[in-house]
Amino acid sequence: MIEECKKAEIDLLITSTYRDFESQNALYAQGRTTPGKIVTNAKGGQSYHNWRVAFDVVPIVNGKAMWNDSVLWQKIGAIGRSSGLEWAGDWKKFKEFPHFQFTGGLTLADFQQGKQVVIA
Ligand SMILES: [Zn+2]
Repeated sequence: MIEECKKAEIDLLITSTYRDFESQNALYAQGRTTPGKIVTNAKGGQSYHNWRVAFDVVPIVNGKAMWNDSVLWQKIGAIGRSSGLEWAGDWKKFKEFPHFQFTGGLTLADFQQGKQVVIA
C-alpha cells in the first residue's frame, strides 16, 4: 500500500502500528480520566492495533501532515482497498480515515481467544 501510494505520488507517514494493552488503556483513559481529547473507544484488547493487524497513516504534503484533505483520503483509501486492506474510512460507525487493517476475516473475539491470521 505504501509503495502503491508512492507511485501515485502520495507520501505516507505511519503514525501507529502495534500497541500493547497498557498503551491502549492509557489511550482509552485520555479524555476520560487523564487530560486530552477522547481518541478511542477501545480498551486494551479491544483494538485491532493490540493484535498487530492494524496501522494508522497520514499523508505528508510539503513536509506537513494533512489530516483533513478528504479528496486525498479517498485516494489513499482506494489504494488501501485495492491492496487488500480494510479501511476504517469505509466504516459506518467511528469512521477513521488514517486506519487500515488486515484481519484475515478474524474478529476481535477471535484474536482475544488466541487465533492468529494465517497468510497462505
Ligand atoms: Zn488505527
